[in-house]
Amino acid sequence: MNFEQVTALKKLLSSSKRIAIVPHKNPDGDAIGSTLALSHYLSKKGHETQVLAPNDFPKFLKWMPGATEILNFERHNTEVKKFIENADLIFTLDFNDFGRVGQMAECLENASAQFIMVDHHQQPSDYAVITYSDVTISSTCEMVYTLIDAMGDRDFIDSDIANCLYTGIMTDTGSFKFKATTSKTHRIVAELMDKGADNTAIHEKVYDTNSPSRLHLLGCALKNMVILEEFNTAYITLTQEELDRYDYEKGDTEGFVNYGLTLNNIRFAVIFIENKDEGIFKISFRSVGDFSVNEFARNHFEGGGHTNAAGGKSEKSLQETIDYFISLLPNYKKELTA
Ligand code: 5GP
Ligand code: MN
Repeated sequence: MNFEQVTALKKLLSSSKRIAIVPHKNPDGDAIGSTLALSHYLSKKGHETQVLAPNDFPKFLKWMPGATEILNFERHNTEVKKFIENADLIFTLDFNDFGRVGQMAECLENASAQFIMVDHHQQPSDYAVITYSDVTISSTCEMVYTLIDAMGDRDFIDSDIANCLYTGIMTDTGSFKFKATTSKTHRIVAELMDKGADNTAIHEKVYDTNSPSRLHLLGCALKNMVILEEFNTAYITLTQEELDRYDYEKGDTEGFVNYGLTLNNIRFAVIFIENKDEGIFKISFRSVGDFSVNEFARNHFEGGGHTNAAGGKSEKSLQETIDYFISLLPNYKKELTA
């Protein structure tokens, strides 16, 4: 955060405000961790805060301090709309375009409040009075830490805030291994541990909560994996019928896409997951090296994200989606095999 942004934020927060804090649709550990941490921090500073999510989030994040108070637009539609209408300020965290909040977009577009964006994805839209956007930072949680630090408020970081921030940094860095993990990230995480983040417990609560059906679904996904050696690419498909067969619950497919990248030589891994309710295949893209899945998702699948992790969607049938996907690969053969 630069000096002007800190000054502007201090001014906006100089009197007590009613503040809505919004993560992206299908919120992950970083989205929930950052919104909850910011909410705890701002309420300690005397503001009225409320986290408003576009939809529900996975069970393995429900233990987080404050998680039970999150209102979601699908379930608490009237309350969410009312809060947004009456808000003085709206923080949007871990996304940078209203297209990322699904049906809740209209509500944000019509809001009279001023927006503050805190986000680390590429190509931010221009809707906020303060756009704190930095694609080099590991996670939005690391940015919320940096924001609190820039405000001179590190003393406000208590155990609840520390546990929330630790969780998002851990999940968005793939447990501190992705390229955006810096020595600063580790110093922040060390401080969060000093302030009460229980690293072992967090890891267990997020990663060691498999149900038998989830592992069977993983087995099904791995069986469905197709390897396109010519393009150093691996993709997985999961149809709604397969999800139903293994009692799919929200969050069950988290991380499946990464298995493709554990194969020798594979640089591009993709998973196509059917969502019958929405009539789409939700797609996750992952890469290693310079191949930008952000560009790939943005150009071909109405999505975006980061260089090495992005998402998108397809409204075509599974076969058509796969045929289209495969037809694109020759254009990227050089990058994928260089
Ligand atoms: P995931 O594949 O884990 O859902 O998402 C990977 C990354 O891409 C995350 O940073 C996520 O926010 C972003 N992302 C996922 N889906 C979409 C999408 O449809 N549009 C955009 N712009 N970003 C997405
Ligand atoms: Mn993130």
